[in-house]
Amino acid sequence: MAQSRKGCGCALVALAAVLAVGGYVGWRFVVKPYLDKRREQAPPPASGDETKVVVLDVGQGDSILIVTPGGKTALVDAGEPGDGKIVLAALKKYGVDHIDLFVATHAHADHIGAADEVIKAVPVAHVLYSGVPNTTKNYEDFLKAVDEKKIDLIRAAPGQSFELGGGAVMRVLAPIEPFFKKEDLRSGGNEPNANSVVTRLDYGAFSMLLTGDAEEQTERERLIKNGANIHATVLKVGHHGSKYATSEEFLKRGEFKYAVISAGIDNRYGHPSQEALDRLKAAGVKIYRTDFQGEILISTRGQENDVKITTAREPKPSEDMWAGRPALRDDSAKKGFIDFGDLPPAPKPKDEARSNSNAKNANSNAKRAGGR
Ligand SMILES: [Zn+2]
Repeated sequence: MAQSRKGCGCALVALAAVLAVGGYVGWRFVVKPYLDKRREQAPPPASGDETKVVVLDVGQGDSILIVTPGGKTALVDAGEPGDGKIVLAALKKYGVDHIDLFVATHAHADHIGAADEVIKAVPVAHVLYSGVPNTTKNYEDFLKAVDEKKIDLIRAAPGQSFELGGGAVMRVLAPIEPFFKKEDLRSGGNEPNANSVVTRLDYGAFSMLLTGDAEEQTERERLIKNGANIHATVLKVGHHGSKYATSEEFLKRGEFKYAVISAGIDNRYGHPSQEALDRLKAAGVKIYRTDFQGEILISTRGQENDVKITTAREPKPSEDMWAGRPALRDDSAKKGFIDFGDLPPAPKPKDEARSNSNAKNANSNAKRAGGR
């Protein structure tokens, strides 16, 4: 009897040991990785206070300020050279005295033009950039300012995320390697645009996709192909509403409720294009435009369907929100055309003398402004 009880005890101990080891293995290699992955993918809970996204009115360019409940801030692009005063005035207006994360979506002048002005004026903790260069003075000035201020310069890569406090997170979706080379792109396309830094902001149930000047090719061959999470409440429309971005497929997968277009009232690039506006309309997206409405303020407490959008002004009766802007080809020859990939090369003026002086002008302007 005693013998049999002893045998039984051993079996129980062995069984317990097997269960313990099995349980540990299951937890360590199955359950825990699953929970970790879910925790990684799920945004942290929103604090319930207000997050603001301000699409500044910098004319033909981009500059978007994000202020979270935790008091952290991000600035995505900084408009054209000279726009520093607009950006700094906005920082003051929204009580911002520092920038935690400055995102330079790409090296064109309408995005990083005033970056040096901002960097010199307020403390900036981190700068995120694509690393795709541009041989312009603007871009040099930007990198020089980053260097002089000893700011942490980070090359953007998918999977990076930046906690902005209060539950707000910015994630990098692109550029995705291999980077687009000139020969991969449609005629007129360019590497800085196609390899733009694309980020998404998540705050509770609210999300926003910030696309820089990404192209349709970026949408299809990188973001969609790689399964990037492009589903969001608000879309910052790519490339100022260029016809070469915001494809039907991208809109279908994104299921955006609202879209913001940052473009200048007097731009000659044909932004926003009728084609992109028609696609947004067909997808049932409500649009906002800085050229007709000025600064656009998006605020949310991160709850479901909690998005408030206000604009600095109403469109004039003559301004049709769904009307695209024609590209002004001829004007491009006169004022120093910057090739952002929406127009064919400017026609050569007939007058020889005028042509020479214009060419000189165009060159110096292009260098200063940083296109191509
Ligand atoms: Zn641009």
